Amino acid sequence: MSSTFNALLMTETDDGVSVAVSELTDEQLPEGDVTVAIEYSTLNYKDGMVVNGNIGRLVRNFPHIPGIDFAGTVEESSDPRYKPGDQVVLTGWRVGEAYWGGFSQKARVKADWLVPLPEGLSARQAMVVGTAGLTSMLCVQALEDQGMTPGDGTVLVTGAAGGVGSVAVTILAGLGYDVAGSTGRAEQSDYLQDLGASQVVPRAELAEPTKKPLEAENWIGCVDTVAGTTLARVMGQMKYGASIACCGLAAGPKLDTTVVPLLLRGVNLLGIDSVMQPYENRVRAWNRVVETVPFEKLDAMSDTCGLADLPEKAKDILAGQVRGRLVVDVNA
Ligand code: NDP
Repeated sequence: MSSTFNALLMTETDDGVSVAVSELTDEQLPEGDVTVAIEYSTLNYKDGMVVNGNIGRLVRNFPHIPGIDFAGTVEESSDPRYKPGDQVVLTGWRVGEAYWGGFSQKARVKADWLVPLPEGLSARQAMVVGTAGLTSMLCVQALEDQGMTPGDGTVLVTGAAGGVGSVAVTILAGLGYDVAGSTGRAEQSDYLQDLGASQVVPRAELAEPTKKPLEAENWIGCVDTVAGTTLARVMGQMKYGASIACCGLAAGPKLDTTVVPLLLRGVNLLGIDSVMQPYENRVRAWNRVVETVPFEKLDAMSDTCGLADLPEKAKDILAGQVRGRLVVDVNA
């Protein structure tokens, strides 16, 4: 007998795209090696774009199930690497955009896209971290691979009260770095200090354009989630030889600046992509998450919602109104 499951289904109509929790059968799942009973997913910025009217036309084929990450238990597998009962986590690979994703009680995916749930991590904790947190860890690793070490000065995190930013502040503070969090939400100052930021920089201080390509050398590293004018300003404020892990564009994709900080101060602009990261790098990052993330802090920064709440929450994340991480309990 065919079994049924619930998912947030996007369908194309004459008026655009509609989104609703719908009941589907196993036969409707796409082809793949591994069927996963999903426990948790999360709401990321990209999910906000997809669920909220498919901004940027990230999704081309309908019907579609969004959700760029999930954690759960293998139900069936034709791949020798996974067997029923194994716990797995998925981020990236354009799941939730080009392929059906995690806002569902079930998914069928390629085995290559999965990572075994790291020992010591629950499915919920993996999704408190999620794509945003894994990206934060990839940023921190990239900065440390360039030589950044605690004790050398202050690391800046932009968009600090958002998902990537909050986890980055938490990880960096946990590793012993002095952290400055930049936020447009002054009311989140206490929250950022609780996560471990020693100073809070008002967003406006960095968002104002300046004609000076070089300013005072303030930062030993930066996790930048916003780009735009902020990134241009920050480039001119980096210490000699320091690096910026550039992973987001919450303030827009444009970067109107000069190469002067790169040429005169040896500043490095490091591009960070979590979607197509090779398997080994993912495993390295997840293992580091287990070793270094203070989960009592991460739990405190996360809220939980169900599938039916997602259309509303998608609006909130695009408006910069989601604080920290929003975990989706697909069985709630
Ligand atoms: P969130 O919406 O949770 O956080 C973004 C934060 O950016 C907001 O909370 C806000 O922080 C700040 N912000 C929003 N609008 C503006 C603005 N106009 N100017 C300056 N700051 C602004 O999103 P995520 O943390 O999930 O994602 C952040 C970015 O990282 C997104 O662009 C996303 O696409 C990207 N990303 C990239 C990945 C990759 O692989 N490279 C993976 C995951 C995400 P505050 O209120 O503190 O100012």
